[in-house]
Amino acid sequence: MSDTNQQQDFRASVREWLAENFPPVLAGMAMGMEGETRSSPVKDLKLWRSRLAEQGWGAPTWPVEYGGAGLSHPQARIIADEMAQIGATNPIPMLAGMGVTMVGPTILEYGTDDQKQRHLPGIASGEVRWCLGLSEPNAGSDLASLTTKAEADGDNFVLNGQKVWTSGADISQWCGALVRTDSNAGKRDGISFVMLPMDQPGVETRPIKLIAGASPFCETYFNNAIAEKNDLLGELNDGWSVIKRLLQHERQSQTSARGGGGEKAAGLSDLAKTYVGTLEDGTLADADLRFRLASHLMDAQAHSLTIGRITAEAKGKVEVTAAASILKNSATRVAQIKAELTVELMGHQGLGWEGETFSNHELGAVREWLGGKAISIYGGSFEVQNNIISKNILGLPETTQKG
Ligand SMILES: Cc1cc2nc3c(=O)[nH]c(=O)nc-3n(C[C@H](O)[C@H](O)[C@H](O)COP(=O)(O)OP(=O)(O)OC[C@H]3O[C@@H](n4cnc5c(N)ncnc54)[C@H](O)[C@@H]3O)c2cc1C
Repeated sequence: MSDTNQQQDFRASVREWLAENFPPVLAGMAMGMEGETRSSPVKDLKLWRSRLAEQGWGAPTWPVEYGGAGLSHPQARIIADEMAQIGATNPIPMLAGMGVTMVGPTILEYGTDDQKQRHLPGIASGEVRWCLGLSEPNAGSDLASLTTKAEADGDNFVLNGQKVWTSGADISQWCGALVRTDSNAGKRDGISFVMLPMDQPGVETRPIKLIAGASPFCETYFNNAIAEKNDLLGELNDGWSVIKRLLQHERQSQTSARGGGGEKAAGLSDLAKTYVGTLEDGTLADADLRFRLASHLMDAQAHSLTIGRITAEAKGKVEVTAAASILKNSATRVAQIKAELTVELMGHQGLGWEGETFSNHELGAVREWLGGKAISIYGGSFEVQNNIISKNILGLPETTQKG
């Protein structure tokens, strides 16, 4: 899609700002730079974060008064495009945990003015990290079965119960938690969404190690943890509406097929040729792999074009709807198949966990393949998205999740 004249001007101004403000030493550096040992990138990363925050580009479409830049979605896309062109990564969404993509947009919709003023600027600047305490040992897909209780006590709620799979709970400053505030109400009616600081005696976190090696998530225990009543998001006992919206934002943020389309997909063909070799006519030597790779590249392209079409039809007014479930499943499929093909085409080199006989790229591919298994689980599993699609989009009767 080509830019309008106004967009061209905007693109030129973004390019100019990036040329002046992006520290070149960070070019090509991925996320997770917090642990970077060389002093220069850490210093530069801090500088880069603060410059982005000042510009409101941590959450560019949010209102300026809450730390955003008040830009349209097409303008935000232009900023992302221009950053990608020079190998610049925006660290703020990662530093804010669940803040920029999920909690923030939900506060914008459901929050009081006071909540917006207190919480949004810290998220938009990447200085306050948020986690989400939704899942429990007996409440995953069937989230409404949750039992963590919040009892009113003066100006506060007192929380007791256990959450699980809480991503980043051990390093977050704030948590958005789904809790039961009325045990006598219907399953989905007695639930509320509260926000609470993690640094308090009533909150304990225990990291869980994942198959891909890292420990990015935790069991989280609330033992008389305190959430102030003025940090109730939405109405009391109407947390189900709040969480449905928040989960739509989560799915929306997961719709881009990681490494699926365009440039990166072409990279996969080259990789296949390097590892598997080519025939005289230059085509991939393994006919079966060739067929599956071509099929994946077509799926990836179709997914990317669909996102492009939806954005164009919405004329940049990106609405979060049930259709995000379709795109989430399609993005999941593309990302997982890509990861599987990558380790497969590497042959023995795609089986390494550690050691000098494997390149960093090969070791990374194995971790990405294993880590990618989680995509069809978090944010609502693949099967649960299919239930949402059948009920909310196709209008079929609900047969599985009563309550
Ligand atoms: C990497 C990762 C990060 C996560 N981060 C967070 C987080 O930050 N905060 C948080 O609260 N949670 C988080 N989760 C938890 C995630 O939301 C749950 O794992 C997910 O909702 C599934 O719940 P469950 O694991 O209890 O599986 P279950 O609900 O027990 O499901 C098990 C299997 O049964 C299938 N199934 C269940 N119900 C149905 C149905 N009605 N119809 C058809 N099939 C069904 C599922 O698809 C799945 O295959 C994370 C999970 C992962 C993997």
